Amino acid sequence: MMIRHHPDLHRLLEFSAGNLGDAEALCIRLHLDLCGECRNRVDALDSLGAVVMERQPELGLSPSVFERVLERIDADRAAPPASAGGATGVLTRILGTDLSSVPWKQSLKNVGVVDLTSRFPAQGHRVLLLKLAAGGTAPAHTHRGEEITVVLQGAFADQQGVFHQGDFVVLDCQDNHRPVAVGQEDCITLSVLSAPLRLTGRFTRLLNPFIR
Ligand SMILES: [Zn+2]
Repeated sequence: MMIRHHPDLHRLLEFSAGNLGDAEALCIRLHLDLCGECRNRVDALDSLGAVVMERQPELGLSPSVFERVLERIDADRAAPPASAGGATGVLTRILGTDLSSVPWKQSLKNVGVVDLTSRFPAQGHRVLLLKLAAGGTAPAHTHRGEEITVVLQGAFADQQGVFHQGDFVVLDCQDNHRPVAVGQEDCITLSVLSAPLRLTGRFTRLLNPFIR
């Protein structure tokens, strides 16, 4: 499995510094479970972070210093192993089940939803577990805010490319997209939305779970 879409350095820094909300942090952890490259980076940021944050003014470090250090680390080190049970175990505890027996709410033929927003009360984000049936197309929509998505199973494609298990995707209001589940498996994602989706297709009224 090849992961091609990673959280950017800024987001990994915020994660390492503990500045992300629980839902977004869970998305990062789910990615880290599958991505040795980013585990490596977070490991390094965790080590460097305390020193740099404390001494940045006197050292005069710029973000590009981080990038250069991380390039060296990417080249030199083996990735630390994923934590046992990891973020998938956290998600299983939140759901009360694993991904094979999630009690999906069906809103459209191809789309299942479990709204996890109430499990992350502090952030004011919507948190949705979404399932797009294999071969199915989701309704076209744009984003009013930012949507962070991590692919937990299967793969989906939109105008920007194909996103596989473990891929971490950030969409914003520029993106009008209509994801299609590709491959043989249903595509399951965890998505964190900073504002509701705006549906642009003809199924708008049917998709109540998205537009509350
Ligand atoms: Zn990664």
